[in-house]
Amino acid sequence: MRLFSKIWRIGIATEPLLAGDPAAVEIGRALERRVTRLFGRALAIRLVDAGSCNGCELELAGLASPIYDMERFGLHFVASPRHADLLLATGPVTRNMEIPLRRTYDAMPSPKFVVAIGDCAKTCGVFAGSYAVVGPVASVIPVDVSVAGCPPEPSDILRGILQALDRRPSGSHVHAVHG
Ligand code: SF4
Repeated sequence: MRLFSKIWRIGIATEPLLAGDPAAVEIGRALERRVTRLFGRALAIRLVDAGSCNGCELELAGLASPIYDMERFGLHFVASPRHADLLLATGPVTRNMEIPLRRTYDAMPSPKFVVAIGDCAKTCGVFAGSYAVVGPVASVIPVDVSVAGCPPEPSDILRGILQALDRRPSGSHVHAVHG
């Protein structure tokens, strides 16, 4: 009883949920329509951190949070590149990650889309010139779209994914074969 009376006295102690980003919802809806037209199902995404500081991953985690809730637009992360339609790559490509990044790309079924996330993935950013860095993502695998920012916001990431999918001829339907 003491516990219940304490709950009654204190009430809700958490912060209220922030309102969602209307721009992100608009892009998300456009993405949902594009993904449905191209694939007829959800878009499977594989993430590779090729050497980032994890700032970009925090924004990607935001996409999966209740605020952005990317799953409602038919976007979800998968564990295996063999199940992925789209590869998101973050960070400059470090020497240790060059081969894993290339193997992940090679393991994806065609057609495959690649979006490089953040300044580091695009130009090596603050890590440019480091002895540990091979180069930007595009120097290792083909990249459809690079999203600038350090880190880019979730709505910018959604916009980049949409741009990558929009590079396909409109009206074409993708028949992805998953091994
Ligand atoms: S772009 Fe910025 S946040 Fe992203 S990995 Fe590079 S330094 Fe970190």
